Amino acid sequence: MIAQYVSNVKKIAQPDKCITGEITRINIQRVFYLSLVAIPMRLLTIINFLSKSPGGDEKEVLWRMGIIISHVVFLVLVIIFGSISYKLKKNNNPNFLMIVVQYGMVITILLLSAVITSIDQLVTNSITPFLIACVAIGVIFLIKPLHSVLIFFLAYMVYYFAMGIMQPELSVLLSNRVNGFTSIVLGLFLSFILWRSNVINLHQKEHIKRQQKELEDKNKELQRFANFDFLTGLTNRRYFEEKISVEISRIKRYSEKACLLILDIDNFKSINDKYGHPVGDVILEGVACLLKSQLRETDIIARIGGEEFTILLLNADEEIGKTVAEKIRKRIEKENFIVDGQEINITVSVGITVLDSRIESYEEGYKYADRALYRAKVKGKNRVEIEMYIGGEHNEF
Ligand code: GH3
Ligand code: MG
Ligand code: MG
Repeated sequence: MIAQYVSNVKKIAQPDKCITGEITRINIQRVFYLSLVAIPMRLLTIINFLSKSPGGDEKEVLWRMGIIISHVVFLVLVIIFGSISYKLKKNNNPNFLMIVVQYGMVITILLLSAVITSIDQLVTNSITPFLIACVAIGVIFLIKPLHSVLIFFLAYMVYYFAMGIMQPELSVLLSNRVNGFTSIVLGLFLSFILWRSNVINLHQKEHIKRQQKELEDKNKELQRFANFDFLTGLTNRRYFEEKISVEISRIKRYSEKACLLILDIDNFKSINDKYGHPVGDVILEGVACLLKSQLRETDIIARIGGEEFTILLLNADEEIGKTVAEKIRKRIEKENFIVDGQEINITVSVGITVLDSRIESYEEGYKYADRALYRAKVKGKNRVEIEMYIGGEHNEF
């Protein structure tokens, strides 16, 4: 329980790189937008101070000069950090310069507010600028808790000593130092709670992003399972039927021709019986590989059953169909499949039909190609047969 608590605290105080990167990006954007507000404000303050006719005693003149100089320094630094942050705003990979800019802006605001508040002591006892700066830093920027403590401590040191120089009245000095301390504690408190809630939010966002990515990967995998044959990597019957239906509509619309081939391994049962099922699987993989190597990218090949494959040759007539089928048949016949050191030869039978604008459905086309395949088997296997549908008659090749 304690260990869990410590690990949670550690996770918040020292989050992983992608979260600190995201936080740096957020801070840089805030530096930019803050500079858009701070630049005109500083300018107005400087103009206001310059336009008032210099008068009053020596103290007031000194105060006026001090305030103008501080605001000019403030303005220059804000312009520098603001313009760098504009360039870095779109940077996705946080770098060292981004870290310098974010801390540069925070330290500038806190230190200059401490200096301005101290200069103000020449004419007033108020510490409002320092209080506002502490609250603003706590609310606007996301700073690591340890860094926050160091920065606020540094600002308080400057405030403490500058106040000692500028505030002559001991009771006011004590009160301002105590109030200054309260200001930094308030700033630190705000900084801590905002850091904590932002880090928790970012952790959750990261978690959701990771889960979404996993879900997308799983969906892709499921899609692969749904469309592809696990053993050979070819498309499966479902995918083939979907694809060929689309192609048949195209064939009908544009009066094109395509060839449907059904290829069946001869006597495959005896191969399984003689060498075993795993060897049969390797042969099936080998045949799939050969088919892929023999056909074009645009041809659609599928394993639709155990040792039965279908091929759709697009833009192919009877002649092309026969040539391709013969090429495949000869190539497979020639191949020596070596499995577990054993040389195995197989043959295939192929049935073809030509799909043209008269074909109504895939089932109809399949029936003709299957009839041709049956004939190839009956005629002794290891051969190619074609069955055409012409004006209601069945013609043989
Ligand atoms: P034919 O020449 O008439 O086609 O004879 P055949 O033995 O090839 O045909 P049959 O339909 O009698 O047998 C097909 C065999 O294919 C039976 C089955 O064991 C085998 N088979 C089906 N699917 C797989 C598979 O995924 N892996 C393996 N190794 N064998 C399979
Ligand atoms: Mg067979
Ligand atoms: Mg079969």
